[in-house]
Amino acid sequence: KEQTPVTTLSLVEDTIKMIGKSFENQNIKIIVENKKYSALYLHKNELLQVLINILNNSKDAFLERDIKEAKINISFDEKDSFQIIYIKDNAGGISSDILAKIFTPYFTTKTSKNGTGLGLYICKSIIEKHSNGELSVENHEDGVLFKIKLFK
Ligand code: ADP
Ligand code: MG
Repeated sequence: KEQTPVTTLSLVEDTIKMIGKSFENQNIKIIVENKKYSALYLHKNELLQVLINILNNSKDAFLERDIKEAKINISFDEKDSFQIIYIKDNAGGISSDILAKIFTPYFTTKTSKNGTGLGLYICKSIIEKHSNGELSVENHEDGVLFKIKLFK
């Protein structure tokens, strides 16, 4: 498949163009650090799918838990051999027993109507197999932090 030169910032901006309205409608703020690093050769549509799933998972968590002042912070970093996209929400985080399983195919805490449990499994496959990268997640004080590491 065709890889195209794209910046991590433009990927995030394109994602927000596609799905941002549904976050606005739920009063979820998406705050993007405006940092533009050099373009990477990536499978753009696959990467957009990854970002959409991660953001939609945060939205689901906000709606389930009825969080006040819901927000998602997206920031970027660059080192010699890779760039990172950080996606951090304040939706309350993931308990450790669930955290251990979130990349397992068909694992979901949602009703079958709302979730297939394939989202993060597919995200991880895309990042690892097609983009020579790593996808990881950890809890921080009031939510989760996803890290998408993309090698140059
Ligand atoms: P699905 O969205 O279909 O449930 P995913 O693979 O996308 O499947 O996510 C798996 C599970 O990980 C979710 O059901 C949810 O329990 C948990 N999860 C993912 N992202 C978050 C988040 N930002 N906050 C809390 N829980 C999350
Ligand atoms: Mg999902």
